[in-house]
Amino acid sequence: MDKSKKPYADSYLSVHGGENRNLYAKSLVPPIVQTATFTFEGVEDFEAFKAGERSGFEYARYGNPTQRVAEQKIAALEGADDALLFSSGMAAVCSVLLAMLSSGQHMIVMEDCYRMTEKFCHSMKKFGIGSSFVKPGDMEGLRSAVRPETRLLFSESPTNPHLHVLDLPQLVSFAKENRLKLLIDSTLATPINQRPIGFGVDLVIHSATKYMGGHNDLMAGVISGSQRLVDAIREFQSITGATADPNTAYLLIRGLKTMELRVQRQNETGLALAEFLEGHKKVRRVFYPGLESHKDHIVARQQMRGFGGVVSFEVEGNTEDVKRFINALKIPQYAPSLGGVEALVQHPATVSHYDMSREERLAVGITDELVRYAVGIEEKEVLIKDIECALGDL
Ligand code: PLP
Repeated sequence: MDKSKKPYADSYLSVHGGENRNLYAKSLVPPIVQTATFTFEGVEDFEAFKAGERSGFEYARYGNPTQRVAEQKIAALEGADDALLFSSGMAAVCSVLLAMLSSGQHMIVMEDCYRMTEKFCHSMKKFGIGSSFVKPGDMEGLRSAVRPETRLLFSESPTNPHLHVLDLPQLVSFAKENRLKLLIDSTLATPINQRPIGFGVDLVIHSATKYMGGHNDLMAGVISGSQRLVDAIREFQSITGATADPNTAYLLIRGLKTMELRVQRQNETGLALAEFLEGHKKVRRVFYPGLESHKDHIVARQQMRGFGGVVSFEVEGNTEDVKRFINALKIPQYAPSLGGVEALVQHPATVSHYDMSREERLAVGITDELVRYAVGIEEKEVLIKDIECALGDL
């Protein structure tokens, strides 16, 4: 059976996944276990624990019960064997790449990824790890980027900020043919809209700071995949220590419980905004995979169950017009994040890509007129009215 297509009980998994009943003091909600270390009855008990004869926890850098609930909930939502929580999305990305690659090896990365991911991949050169960047969807470019020492293929889907949607079954076969591990950063999709593991992807990464937390009040990252792969990365994390603390894990569990409700709302609002913008004469182009005009619309319809809450678009005019438009918006605050209950807006040319020359930015599609709008859970009519007024001022 195609696991990616099976009907999901998303809210059931979001609320109950990974949770045990009969918790401490009969608490309904998983408690915040705020401790740096865990105790043992004595030498024999510790030995039994190490031999795997009893479950439990040893030291909080290696894992904590609150963190474990969040991990098991996310693994259930992704349809993965296991998941591992990190202190941020970037801690997850960097740890995974460092754990999976060695000096002399090489990886292929799809362009249009989060800027810090791109920067980290370039910086891996100092460890003797090479990277080649390929445009999303360029299969010819991908084929010619493979070298004998290539071990890994990394892509976002949808990508940030242009929302390219990669053909996951095609990438999975390509990775298998070339003996590469395939890693997908699925942050913009969430497990509600897309489950890459069901297509055969090896490891899924999320910035849990975004839709999973959902309230713009925590930083976390997570990876999900096979037991073998997650265990190997857990071992690496137990040394490097980029673990999420129990308070963060608690907030994340709370956020995850309403993820399905929020994401359905954000899908609906995202599509409504994209359709409105596409029909507006002061908007030049709209990037949203739910629009029929989007180049990856058919792929997106085949592998996603909703198209998310990020809409990128180019406003007619020059840089000054774009700035005037953004400043005239009354509802979204100007901030570099997405996926929370509050709508946020940003100008990629002067935020994420501020340190590139105009030519470098244009080469990766970041025009001066590009705006990235991330919807919250506000009513779509209210957000559209606000955008209409701001465009009317141009
Ligand atoms: N991946 C994507 C697609 C992102 O958008 C981000 C952050 O914006 C990250 C990873 C990094 O996550 P964090 O900010 O939680 O470190």
